[in-house]
Amino acid sequence: VERPNSNDTAKMADFVDGTCKSVVEACEALGLDEGFDWDDALLDLNVERCSYCDWWYDSCMLTEVPQKNGFFCDQCLAEFGIEKD
Ligand SMILES: [Zn+2]
Repeated sequence: VERPNSNDTAKMADFVDGTCKSVVEACEALGLDEGFDWDDALLDLNVERCSYCDWWYDSCMLTEVPQKNGFFCDQCLAEFGIEKD
């Protein structure tokens, strides 16, 4: 899958960061192509989805939980009863 250019990726990151908007929703709002690998491109800008609640966060806000096979925000960790180190 092709990757979007860095300009569009930055626009997308601004749009979704701190929200639970879908990539499709963001593409429609911004007039961007849904066919790109946005998740991968956004990860380069350290913008990443919580694996449970689907909100977008800065990667540094998420904690990897190997036994749940993903990266999760503080609220979801609390819901799982998992303490951060
Ligand atoms: Zn979460």
